[in-house]
Amino acid sequence: MRARLALDGVAKSFGDTLAVRDMSLSLAPGEFVSLLGPSGCGKSTTLAMIAGFETPTKGAILIDGKDVARRPPGKRAIGLVFQDYAVFSRLSVRSNLLFGLEAQGVGRAERKRRLEAIVERLDLGHLLTRRGANLNMSEMQRVALARVLVTEPLLLLLDEPMSNLDAAIRERLRTELKALQQDLGQTVLYVTHDQVEAMAMSDRIAVMHDGVIEQIGTPEDIYHRPATRFVAEFIGDPPINLLPCAVTSEGNGCRAMTDAGILLDLNGVAAPEGRYLLALRPHDIAIGGTDSGTPSTVRFVERFGPEDVLHCTFNDALVTVAVAPDTAIIGEEVGLSFAPSRIHLIDEADGRVVTSKAPS
Ligand code: ATP
Repeated sequence: MRARLALDGVAKSFGDTLAVRDMSLSLAPGEFVSLLGPSGCGKSTTLAMIAGFETPTKGAILIDGKDVARRPPGKRAIGLVFQDYAVFSRLSVRSNLLFGLEAQGVGRAERKRRLEAIVERLDLGHLLTRRGANLNMSEMQRVALARVLVTEPLLLLLDEPMSNLDAAIRERLRTELKALQQDLGQTVLYVTHDQVEAMAMSDRIAVMHDGVIEQIGTPEDIYHRPATRFVAEFIGDPPINLLPCAVTSEGNGCRAMTDAGILLDLNGVAAPEGRYLLALRPHDIAIGGTDSGTPSTVRFVERFGPEDVLHCTFNDALVTVAVAPDTAIIGEEVGLSFAPSRIHLIDEADGRVVTSKAPS
């Protein structure tokens, strides 16, 4: 269902550990937002506070404008699916699906209607009489999701629901889950440490680090216009190149000289003079002959099928470049061309991106 969720200045401490600090985030009705970040950054604690398993140390949690922060979990109309699926192993799939509806006191005719709808939507008809214990991981994931969706929650919270599945199944379920969410118009908060999952499914991504949301934006924003060094490094595969440099003003823009001696004119970029990290994605560097661009040597080639990743050196700087297969071989001398409009300058001291010229 379509509920609006808002976190307003929410924090949570466990003794001396500040797990979540002053977090504000809002989800529009029907929006799919991912909380993405490394292990220990506070994702599960945030979800547990929304679900009602943890009480915030401060701040408000609003569902459709009503503060639920102190309401018991059963009174929040929230659906939860975890990594370890809560499927009753001794019960049949049918009983698993009806369990929540019976607990809620939903009438017989309505139970039948909802059961039939979800069974058809998730293609569970052939599993209805099978016991929970006899499902494989993928089936169990589907039943866990159906069990929650059948209760028509205001908000669906998913905590790493696919991490027990094989890569191929994960990929298929990703597409199915997104299609289902769009059909139902369900508001979803999805917790993951996997950037591919977050990029593939989300309307917006909140990147978390150390209890704080570093940036909230569309997948395109997060990838092309990172706000901080952490976001720039956490998103993207192969990882973004970071080259320490000094920036000086030059005409109507500025000029960056990397410590390894690569000189780049950044026309139209206004950044105060000083020390920066010059950040540029491997896909935003082109390879040409040695007469064009920065002369470099290819030291190592990774072959991924649709593309090769070249590890090149210029003096002692290592630069990674993503190119079409068979563009260059180990030991080859090439020229690197950096796309100036895709360069970000990151303040070396505080890690904030001071300028991003990537296309909007
Ligand atoms: P993971 O993906 O590994 O679950 P996470 O991003 O979900 O990580 P949290 O589980 O929310 O992170 O943990 C955030 C911080 O709070 C960590 O430092 C963790 O050790 C701490 N923490 C979480 N729960 C408790 C608890 N019940 N008691 C004490 N510390 C806790």
